[in-house]
Parts: sequence; structure tokens; C-alpha cells
Amino acid sequence: MDANIDSHLIDDKPHDECGVVGVFKKESKAAQIAAFALYALQHRGQESAGIASSDGESLYIQTGMGLVSNVFTPESLSGLLGEMAVGHTRYSTTGSSRLINAQPFWVTGANGDLALAHNGNLINAVELRDNLENNWDTSFSSSTDSEVLAYTLANAPGKNWEERMSHCMRNLKGAFSVVVQTKDALLAFKDPLGIRPLCLGKLDEGWMVASESAAIDLVGGEFIRELKAGETVIIDDHGVHSFIWPGRDDREALCVFELIYFSRPDSILAGSRIYLQRRSMGARLAREYPVEADLVIGIPDSATAAAMGYSEESGIPYSDGLIRNRYVGRTFIEPDQKTREADVKIKFNTLPEMIKGKRLVVVDDSIVRATTTPLVIDMLRRAGAKEIHMRVCAPPIRWPCHFGVDMATRKELVAANHSEESICELIGADSLGYLSIKGLLEVNADKGEGFCHACFSGDYPIPIQLELDKMTLEDRKPRGGHF
Ligand code: SF4
Repeated sequence: MDANIDSHLIDDKPHDECGVVGVFKKESKAAQIAAFALYALQHRGQESAGIASSDGESLYIQTGMGLVSNVFTPESLSGLLGEMAVGHTRYSTTGSSRLINAQPFWVTGANGDLALAHNGNLINAVELRDNLENNWDTSFSSSTDSEVLAYTLANAPGKNWEERMSHCMRNLKGAFSVVVQTKDALLAFKDPLGIRPLCLGKLDEGWMVASESAAIDLVGGEFIRELKAGETVIIDDHGVHSFIWPGRDDREALCVFELIYFSRPDSILAGSRIYLQRRSMGARLAREYPVEADLVIGIPDSATAAAMGYSEESGIPYSDGLIRNRYVGRTFIEPDQKTREADVKIKFNTLPEMIKGKRLVVVDDSIVRATTTPLVIDMLRRAGAKEIHMRVCAPPIRWPCHFGVDMATRKELVAANHSEESICELIGADSLGYLSIKGLLEVNADKGEGFCHACFSGDYPIPIQLELDKMTLEDRKPRGGHF
């Protein structure tokens, strides 16, 4: 079964990308630290997980399908030797959900062996792959853009990593937050617009990098800072040094959806705790779309902070009204055996005592296809809600993402094809209000970041000439390698 189909049916949410981690720590088993850190990044991808390690002599690697806890055991981790490791949790944004597409990728090129883990999406992967196949006789083993990225780096011209990274920054187009392990160094870098998050942490006698600061917290490290757009950090026996690609312009385009939904609320992004940012967005939503109501509830768990912010700003009390089943497996029900109603019942239940006879403000973080929202509203009405005022803590999603988020096609996006009035009718709410793009950006204006908001505005930070379908590289005929 294609896990993507299943996940879309079950929650109608955009799907993030991947989580990456890199560890360099003296006299440690770095792979074990990386495995712990991956637990904190599990929400960024549940299809596969992998870790590569190095003891300075050799690289070791293990990848598998499923959750971190399914892939790694104490026995399997004991085979991943060395003081350096990179790890990955995957949700497929390019290429299908198969073991050969699991990361890290271990490749060999003119610059030696390296293992690479990537979060993001290259929009020129087809062109780069053609170049590698035609000019370097490269044989690809997977259908992902991440392997294209790995070979581009492994064969990048230059005397040192600074020169090789210049080549990559110039030639790779799209979103890439990457950790790389060579035999003796850990590299971490972010694309010139800084679309996906990546941060640096300090360990006793070592360092780590991770997609989110929550992963650094989990292993007892100290969050140091977020990487800058176009920055490369190199960690080796000489310590940490970094450089920013001089060819980048001043623009930054951090994915604003990381703040709305993807990243954990306890992570730090764009300079502050995401939980607090979500509360502020909820407060702004209350100012933009006030309503007379008795109770504010959030769709758990991702909209809880925004719902609290709405409540605080409006003065309407907050309560839990829906309880989420935290143990829903993603792949155990065959798509043809289930209905969306069953999906929603598996995922949520109501607290009738809290909501009966009340005028509810129901806060959600986003609406993509509007496939599950009507069912949740119906469930709340059956539990006795008198009125339901839907408030969405993101602007209407009208455009697909090309930078590492599996969202939907334009045809499927409800806000691309319906007015807000007709969406309100479609979902069966008494009123509907979305946070404005202006409001979203003003709430985050003091963070000193530029944001990508293309899925709301259509204003892509990189011109999109090629609609890189998730399966584009899947259809390519292998040359010398296998798929
Ligand atoms: S298009 Fe949307 S989801 Fe994609 S990077 Fe931009 S803000 Fe994030």
C-alpha cells in the first residue's frame, strides 16, 4: 500500500518532508545519539529511517522502512561504529516509499565516500541527473532527488569544501537542508534561501546539527543557533567552522508552514519558541475574525496553541472538546476497507459534557482538501454543539508546494477552487475565518526572517518552470543501476 494515499485520507494535512540529524562527539557511540535524536523528529517522516556512521576508517549504514523504533534495535545500533553519525526520517516528497529510497545515501565520487541526509526538494533534479549520467557516468540506485544531490556533492569540483559548496549552491535549485558525513568530517548546509530549518547544538565533547532544536534537547545538548541561509557548517577534529556562500542575495524564504504546523511547538525557529508564535497567530486570528461564542476548542494537537491564543485574546473560555487518539497507525488499514468517517472516528472523539448546547469557536491549523473538516464538524454537532464557527490559523492554501511539502495538486486544493463562502457551506460551519497573509507575516515580522508563503500567495521565491512531480524520477529508466 502506498502510505501517502493512506495518510492523505486519514488527516487531510500537508505532509512534511523529512528530519535530519548529524552528531560528532568524542568517545561516543554517535549512532546511538543520532537514533535518540531521530525520535524527536519522527513527526517529520514516518515512512523510513536510517543512520550512517563513521569511525574515521570506514562508513557504516543501516536503513529500514517504518518508524525509528521499528528500524533500530540495540543490536543493530551496535554495528554502527564511530564518533560521527548522520540520521534521517523520511516522508517521500520525491520518489516512492520504498527501501531503496530510504536515507542516508552512501555514494562514492571524486571527493571520496560520503553519506548524506536531505530535507527539502530540488526543482532541477532531472537536469542535474542527466548531467551526472551523461558526464560522470553515474549510476543511480534510487528515484530520489536526494541521491542526485549526494552525487552532485561527491563530484563537485574544488580544492576544498568551500569551493565544492560554491559549486553546489550555484547549481542546486530548490530547498535543501542537508547533513553529510565524510570519513573525517560532518558537514551541514542550508540552501541560499534557507527554506527548510536546520540548527546547531553543543554536546559535551562534541556538536550536533538537527532539523529542529527539540532533537538537541532530547539528547541533553545545548541549542546554539539556527543555520543561516546559504551557510555551511563543518565539524571535524579542529572544531566547528562555517562560511556563507558569497553568491547568495539578501533574500530569505524560510517556510512559514514550519511555524504554522510542521515543526514541533517546543522547537525554536525564526528566533523564538514555536508554541508562543502559534499563540500569537491565534490571537491575531481572534482580532481578524471575532465572533460571539461560549467556548474555544482546538483540533488537537497541532491547533491547540493557536486555540489558546484565540481564547486569551477574545476572552472566550478555552476547553478541550475533542480528544485525539495518539496511537493511530498509518498503514494498518487498507484504503479500500475504510471510509473517511471511520478514519475520523479512529482519530478523534468528542467530550459532549464540554460542548453540548455551546456556541463553539473551533480552531484548526490549516485546511487542504476539506475532506475531514466536515466530518469533524458533524461529529461536534452530534455531540450537541449549538453553533460552530471555524477559524483557521493559516491563510487559504491555493498553490502547491515545490519545496519539500506534499500538499496536493491545485485541482485538489479546496481554496484554489472555491470561495470562502462556499467552503463554509461545504464544511457545514456557521461561519469561517482564515488568518490573512498580512496577519501571518505581521505576527512574525519581528523575527528578522523572510518567509516563503507561496502556497498561500502563489509568490514562489524561485521561479517554478518545472512542475516536478513526486514520481518524476521514478519513471526514469535505470542506466547501469537499478530502481
Ligand atoms: S510553498 Fe508553503 S509549504 Fe512550501 S515552502 Fe513555501 S510556505 Fe512552505
